[in-house]
Amino acid sequence: EIIEQFNPDNCLQDRVILITGASAGIGKEAALEFARRGAHVVLIARNQENLEAVYDEIESTTQTRPIIFPYDLNTLNPDIAREMAYAIEQEYGRLDGVLFNASALGSKMSIAQYPEQQWLDVINTNVNSAFYLTKAMLPLLEAAPAGRMLFTTSSVGRKGRAYWGAYAVSKFATEGLMETLADELKATSNVRVFAVNPGGTRTAMRASAYPGENPETVPAPSEHMPLYCYLMSDASGDYHGASIDAYDYL
Ligand code: NDP
Repeated sequence: EIIEQFNPDNCLQDRVILITGASAGIGKEAALEFARRGAHVVLIARNQENLEAVYDEIESTTQTRPIIFPYDLNTLNPDIAREMAYAIEQEYGRLDGVLFNASALGSKMSIAQYPEQQWLDVINTNVNSAFYLTKAMLPLLEAAPAGRMLFTTSSVGRKGRAYWGAYAVSKFATEGLMETLADELKATSNVRVFAVNPGGTRTAMRASAYPGENPETVPAPSEHMPLYCYLMSDASGDYHGASIDAYDYL
């Protein structure tokens, strides 16, 4: 109920929030919504043109200062992650939140047939990049008054499902990364971490996973934004370490 009613315009005022996969789908909607609520957003995705379109929309409709890092997270390494942290510190002097949202779906294929290189690419994009960014960004988040990390999970990351391959395994790992981190941070840090399972949501990834589905039958990314904003803001208080189903809050 608190979350359903959570709609304050300025709940992310002057926060600095990094969003991966901000060029499309849920990440794009989060970038626009966080900026509307006052946050300076740092946007990562591969497609520079799409990122620039998000940047332009934020610049022309809000007073905030976004920046973009066009980058393929499959090729991220610890040095680049640290350079990104350094650039954020130089630009804003702080970092308050990270939304780990980018993911590769990979092929819908049995484990017996799953291509080895694609396995590595999906795990790298969905899990290893989040580990590198977590390490690089944690010192900045710990210096913030109410640092937040939001990981993005899926129902196939809690119970395995045939033919979801590396994507499903990457989401189990995402849950594990979030939980391990949450346990480490709970006593010693102000940083609060969560995983959110958006559930079926109207995006290109959903359409590619369920080509026969009428997109109008699943919620739009915007419908999840009260929950995302609540978790990113200091309103979520000491709430910590949970894996949350967004459709419980629609
Ligand atoms: P989309 O495919 O619509 O968007 C994915 C975003 O991630 C895009 O901005 C894409 O940008 C970016 N991205 C993908 N690969 C890379 C990469 N290698 N490097 C950098 N950026 C990358 O997905 P959704 O919005 O549907 O999904 C968002 C999150 O929600 C994902 O973690 C997904 O697993 C999860 N989820 C979604 C559900 C749904 O029904 N939609 C259900 C359950 C979970 P670009 O192509 O420009 O790189």
